Amino acid sequence: MKDFLIVGAGLYGSVIAHELTRKGYSCIVIDKRGASGGNIRTEMREGIMVHEYGAHIFHTSDEQVWKFVTDLVPMSPFVHSPVACFKGSFYSLPFNMHTFKALFGTSEPEEARARIEKEALGEKMRIVKERRSRESSSSARTSYNDVTDQDPEVDQTCKVSRNTGTAEKNIEDIRDRFEEDREIKEFVPANLEEQALVTVGRTVYETLIKGYTAKQWGCDPRMLSADIIKRIPIRYTYEEDYFNDRYEGLPSTEAGGYTGLIDRLLEGVEVRLDTDYLALREQRDPDTWYKDPGLGLAKRVIYSGAVDEFFCSCYGPLAYRSLRFEQEELETDDFQGHAVVNYTDSESPFTRIIEHKHLTADYRPSGRPFTIITKEYPKLFAEGDERFYPVRDNVSMERYNKYMELAAGCPLVAFGGRLGSYRYLDMDKVIKAALEDAERLRDGGEERNTVKNDSDTV
Ligand SMILES: Cc1cc2nc3c(=O)[nH]c(=O)nc-3n(C[C@H](O)[C@H](O)[C@H](O)COP(=O)(O)OP(=O)(O)OC[C@H]3O[C@@H](n4cnc5c(N)ncnc54)[C@H](O)[C@@H]3O)c2cc1C
Repeated sequence: MKDFLIVGAGLYGSVIAHELTRKGYSCIVIDKRGASGGNIRTEMREGIMVHEYGAHIFHTSDEQVWKFVTDLVPMSPFVHSPVACFKGSFYSLPFNMHTFKALFGTSEPEEARARIEKEALGEKMRIVKERRSRESSSSARTSYNDVTDQDPEVDQTCKVSRNTGTAEKNIEDIRDRFEEDREIKEFVPANLEEQALVTVGRTVYETLIKGYTAKQWGCDPRMLSADIIKRIPIRYTYEEDYFNDRYEGLPSTEAGGYTGLIDRLLEGVEVRLDTDYLALREQRDPDTWYKDPGLGLAKRVIYSGAVDEFFCSCYGPLAYRSLRFEQEELETDDFQGHAVVNYTDSESPFTRIIEHKHLTADYRPSGRPFTIITKEYPKLFAEGDERFYPVRDNVSMERYNKYMELAAGCPLVAFGGRLGSYRYLDMDKVIKAALEDAERLRDGGEERNTVKNDSDTV
């Protein structure tokens, strides 16, 4: 019997297996897919490194994580600078001076800043005015109701004319202005649309955020929490690197891309593919399996699958967004001249097109016109789909907390990774968490499952 059964041969499961093996523990890794690597898997096809589950760019400012990765595989330098396509026009991302030049014709940073700030302030004032007018019309309705409730015979015309005497009206106007100024200063956006409008103004919002967000989340941005885009990166420079991290790159083609990284991590570890933990568990006695969650294979379990699935969704399913990838092989040398193009209008049904050869830093042309592209279509998660993005809405977070209470009663099972902790995590955060968890599991003996509260959002 092994020390650990690790469910999931994705990045999290592979790093933790590597670390625990290095520390002298025996591990077995299982995955229900037919290949290891989880969502970071890459495949080499005709000299092109294909990212099977969407473009993955490694970026971090964490020295320990960067050293960990580069000790295993050489990294090819890469600068992620996606382009946005809105109704046939192209813009730089993240929002920078190239974007503002294309949108407003502004070349100077101060000019662009003034333009954005003017639009953003205008939006804030408009929203405050609209909120106030909604409030005053509802309070006018209330006072009318109050009055008529008290005295159905009361003369309304008389009441209204008494309240609109000139002196009183002036004082009311001044009070209103002060109140409006205060509300502008203390403005709290009520939803994602308001958050975006008061940060970047209407032009940027409508061209680059609105349609993309609606497609990505499958709903009107006014239905989404402002927290989702708390920080919109705006750069008043011509610098085009999407990330602000110190290190950025992709595992080199020679090393086998991300799949090469996973292979290095899993060297010397027993791996069983096409093996679903839940299916194995179903074959056991439902009243006793929890005493032996390692299913006779190992003493303890590290689970990087979906936490709601583990508990048979007894408190209800957690919400996720999924994706559909459509891959095409084309007889052309270059389809879009760039690795990633985001489609920000609502007319294009996909959110991104990836041209994989542009992600392959050390790509050597094969001599014939050939390229591979992937279109990314967001979709609502349905049974049988891959769970890509956790949707941490109130209902799901309440359920997740309850699942974590159950998890606290399963000392032999530790939950981790993207699905196990029900959070969107970039690869560097996954590696960091796996390194820390490996250390904790080694020292602590028993796992203490805790709710990891954070504000990470997609
Ligand atoms: C479209 C997209 C683009 C991204 N781009 C980037 C990027 O550019 N940069 C970045 O840093 N991060 C990016 N990420 C995040 C990155 O994909 C994750 O950080 C990483 O894949 C998480 O690894 P994981 O092991 O936690 O999860 P996964 O990769 O999902 O691995 C979990 C594994 O568990 C297996 N499993 C689940 N349930 C069971 C079961 N019952 N039995 C057996 N096996 C099971 C699954 O088959 C899977 O292989 C992106 C994510 C997405 C969705």
